[in-house]
This record gives sequence, C-alpha cells and structure tokens, in this order.
Amino acid sequence: MIAAKDRDTLLSQCHKLAKAYQVVDGEGFRLASVDPNDTLHLQRDDKAMAMQRLSEGTSLLAEFQERLYAQDRWGVLLIFQAMDAAGKDGTIKHVMSGVNPQGCHVTSFKAPTATELDHDYLWRCQQALPERGRIGIFNRSYYEETLVVRVHPELLQKQQLPPSLLGDDIWKRRCSEIRHFEDYLSNNGIIVLKFFLHLSRKEQKRRFLERLDNPDKNWKFSLGDIHERAHWDAYMKAYEEMIQRTARPSAPWHVVPADNKWFTRIAVAASIIDAMARLDLRLPHLGEEARRQLEEGRRLLLAED
Ligand code: ATP
Ligand code: MG
Repeated sequence: MIAAKDRDTLLSQCHKLAKAYQVVDGEGFRLASVDPNDTLHLQRDDKAMAMQRLSEGTSLLAEFQERLYAQDRWGVLLIFQAMDAAGKDGTIKHVMSGVNPQGCHVTSFKAPTATELDHDYLWRCQQALPERGRIGIFNRSYYEETLVVRVHPELLQKQQLPPSLLGDDIWKRRCSEIRHFEDYLSNNGIIVLKFFLHLSRKEQKRRFLERLDNPDKNWKFSLGDIHERAHWDAYMKAYEEMIQRTARPSAPWHVVPADNKWFTRIAVAASIIDAMARLDLRLPHLGEEARRQLEEGRRLLLAED
C-alpha cells in the first residue's frame, strides 16, 4: 500500500503525463506534433528515479485492478497500436507486471484466418472484449482495418465484401463504425483507452539492426518487417487520419513517444492509472445481511475445537 501523501503526488504526476500525450479531439491533430524522442521534462539521468516511479505505479495499478474486480461494474479495454519494434510487447509486460493475471487478458491480433475473414471485421475483437471487473488488452486490434489493410489494398480484396461496398470512402466509413462501436462500449461500462507507440523510422532501423547483431534477439527478426518499413509514409498518413477520426473524450488516443522504452512504459502506466483513478473504484459496501454472515462465520470458526 502506498502512503496517502505519496499516492496523491503520484496521481498528480500521472495526470500530467497522461494529459501530455492524450488526444481527445482528433480534429487538427498532427503526428508531427509529437516527437518520438520526447521524454517530457524527464532526463535520461532521471531513468533510475523513473523506474522507481514505474514500480510504484504498477503497485497502484494492481490495487485499482483488485477493486475493479471486486466492484464488478466497469471493464477496461486497452488498445495498443504501433509500427514493428516500437515495444508493444515490452510495454504490456512491464506495465501490467503487478496485476493479478486472473483479472487481465491479452489478445494479439494477427492477419485474420479464413474463418475470421468470413465474418465482419469486428467479430473476432468482440469475442475478446473484457468482462466487467477485468482489464482486456488488445495487442493490435480492429484499427488494423484502417492501417495495414489501407496500406495494402490487396488485403481488402480478400475480405469477401460485396463490390458495391468497396468505395474510396471505406476508410472514413470504418473509422465512423469504430467510433460508434467504442461509444457503445463506453455506454456499457467498458472504458476504452488507446495507445499509439510513436517510434521514429531511425530508431526502428537501430532496433532491427540490434535484432540482427545480437544472437539473443535474432528470433525477433522478420524480413517481412523490413519490407513493411518501405511503406513508412503511407502508414504514418493512415495513423494520422485514423487518430483524427477516432479520438474522442470517451475513447481517447494516447500518442506516446516510443524511441526511449523506459519513457514509453512510464507514460503508458501513467495514462492507465489516471483513467482508473477517475472511476472512483471502491470495494463493495457490505449490507446488513452480509455483515450478519461475517458475524455468523466468526462465531462458527471460534466455536470449533
Ligand atoms: P511482434 O512483431 O512484436 O512480435 P506483431 O504485433 O508485429 O508483434 P506479428 O506476428 O509480427 O505481430 O504481426 C502481426 C501482423 O498481423 C501484422 O503485420 C499486422 O499488420 C497483421 N494484422 C493484424 N490485423 C490484421 C488485419 N485485420 N488484416 C491484415 N493484417 C492484420
Ligand atoms: Mg511484427
């Protein structure tokens, strides 16, 4: 448990970090306004202190998650999108490290299977939505339908859509469908928080080279990732438009600088803590009957030999 004073300081720091990268109204948003190398006011030398903060943050998150579970009212959906090697996996691992695995579920969305392609594109994601009391994490998501599918139009051809539905406005339409879907989720008590880990092209190259040079990281290397890199500008355009069209107060995007992994992790943790702190999560209030049962339980236990 964190002392009340430290907790207030931590919560106010989280609020500042969350606000720094939050996009609640996409209109006019420009990706160029966020520097992937930004670390706000924190310097590299502050890294040790930042790691300490992260560990306090994960304890707080664990506490919130326990109450979320006990209260059984809200669900939390965290969506992670990024270019390859931006650190989605590591961020999820570190930020959720203190959370009870039973209260949290990660789903990684890859290229759709034949069965998935036979359904509408939200179908597979709907099945992975968190229940009340749980945190659901989407490692990639339905947003790929406005990103990789837009950058590679041949993927859209595979989706078996009637030709009359394949107009040029399909990306705009999909963003509108997603906005409505997320409205529906938030109206049903599912908090939606979206993270774009914003990596620079230069840092991606450095990380790919590290995967080639370091035998322990060779397994992470994929030649396909190098080919995808050639479409960088098309991806950035698709990301920017998608954020412009789907950032809203009820389902904000967080465009988090991703060139420094330690900072990405802190900024993501801070944004989740800030959102959960506002839910005013409490352990359930015990009614008279429940209290009577506690007393009865105590009496029975103490009456044993
Ligand atoms: P990592 O590379 O860090 O392990 P990843 O999320 O990149 O994680 P991969 O298995 O490398 O996982 O890639 C998954 C691929 O699936 C991505 O290239 C992504 O664009 C693709 N994908 C996800 N959803 C869709 C979709 N709806 N349609 C087409 N491709 C998709
Ligand atoms: Mg990959």
